[in-house]
This record gives sequence, structure tokens and C-alpha cells, in this order.
Amino acid sequence: MFSNSSLLEIYKKYREGRLAHAYLIETNNIPKLMNDLKELIKALNCPEEYQETCHKCNLCNLISKNNLPSLVTIEPEGTSIKKSQIEDLKIAFETKPIYSKYNTYIIKNAEKLNGSSANAMLKFVEEPTEGIIGFFITNNKDVMIPTIKSRCQSLVVNYESDNLLDKLNMTEEELEHYKTVIRSYLDEIENNNYINHKEFILSQFPDRKQIEAMFQIIFAIYYQNFLKQQNGGNYQELVKNFEIKENMKDIITKMNIIAKFLQDLSYNVNIELLLDKFVIEMRRIHG
Ligand SMILES: [Zn+2]
Repeated sequence: MFSNSSLLEIYKKYREGRLAHAYLIETNNIPKLMNDLKELIKALNCPEEYQETCHKCNLCNLISKNNLPSLVTIEPEGTSIKKSQIEDLKIAFETKPIYSKYNTYIIKNAEKLNGSSANAMLKFVEEPTEGIIGFFITNNKDVMIPTIKSRCQSLVVNYESDNLLDKLNMTEEELEHYKTVIRSYLDEIENNNYINHKEFILSQFPDRKQIEAMFQIIFAIYYQNFLKQQNGGNYQELVKNFEIKENMKDIITKMNIIAKFLQDLSYNVNIELLLDKFVIEMRRIHG
């Protein structure tokens, strides 16, 4: 339902009738969290039995389009969140919502509440009104004003990066080096000139961790080509350098071989043996 299990926990609490009135959520990806939070807010308010993406009801549609009056998102104006923004929120939430169960506010970059806006906010969190829920969103809860922080239920919602460089924890230059070696490696496998090449690879990447990174990149190359064939388009970074003109079935078989290699590598099997086995299996596909 949500791409993050911590938000699912909030939904479960709601089902048990134990929803908190204010949550402080620290995240490494505010845009992704905002999307998930929208889904959570639909789930809390949907008059139908909420399902993955409710298209049936007017309320969920309004939330999707950011048009639900009882859902207010506040973000910094300039460098801080101003007291007047909080006062407008208070006025808006004096009346009970018409369509939804809750009046919900989201304070984005909540660490940007300054002294006076935090004070204005405090009343909401100190004397919670039935039917109002708040979400304070920040990249770093350590810099949040303590009076607010201490009155919220606090959780961390982190997302894995989609970016290959972040995942591999390497620089652009290092990735280029890997790509060059991989380019010649894949060519040599095709051309049956592999034995000398194994030594070349081990001289370039003597460390087991480096071999692992190399094969993660090879996996990503095949995976991105798989996505490209499946969905069309040419949006994947690695496809530009490594276009694989094989059919889907062969690409999937090769992805399995690469995945198996990575698994064996994690079991401490001898690297030279693994590299030999890898080449034999990759070449077998072409008969
Ligand atoms: Zn709905």
C-alpha cells in the first residue's frame, strides 16, 4: 500500500483507534515521503475501504489533485516558516472538515519553524483538538525546536536511492573506470578471448569488493536494458553506453546468471573459479 513500512504502522494504529495527533517524520527523501504521506492521508480519510490507489471516491481524487480544503501543507516562505502561515492554518481549522474525517496539516521542512511560528504552532500540539492530525517533516530532527519535537510521536522514514552512484558509493570517475573495464570484458566474452582477460580484470580489481561492484554494474546494465525493452524509452543512464541487442528471454537468463554470481561471491567462493563459471554460462546461451 505504501512504499514504506513505517507509514503502514501509522495506518495500523489508526485501525486500532490509536492514532497520535502529531507525528515528526525524519526522512532522506522529502518528495518521496510526500507522495507516500498523501496515500496515508487518503487511507485515513477514505469513506470506501481504501485500497492501493482508490480511484472510486471523490475524496481520494481531491487529495491526489491537492484540492482537499481540509489538507493543508505549509512550507517555508523564503528562509523560514512565518507566524502568519500558522495563524492562517489555525483559522482554516476552526471549522470541522466537510468531506474528510480529519483536518490534516503537513509542515514541510519543519526545522524552518522559527521562534514565533513554533510558538504559534505549540497550541496545536499541546492541546490537541479531536479530529486534527499533524505531520512535521524534516531531513534532520536534531535541529527541530525541542518544544515541538517532544510533543510529537517521532519516526524515521528512509528510502533507498534509485541512483546507481549512491548505491555503489563511488564517484563519477570511478564509475567511468568500471565501465571501461566492463566494456572490454563483455566484448572479450563474446569473442572467446577470455583467459587473458581474467588476469586483466583481477589486475584492475584485486579486491573482492571491487569485483562485486563490477558485477553489480553489469547486473544494472542488463536490468536497464530489460526495462527498456519492456517499457520502451531510452531514459536509463547505462543503456546509452551498453545497449544489448538480445531478446528478452536471453537478457533475463543472463540477469539470473549475474545474480547467481553475486550470490556465490558473497559465499567466499574462489574468485577465479567463479569468473570461469560465469563465462561458460554466459557463452552457453548463444549455443
Ligand atoms: Zn477513496
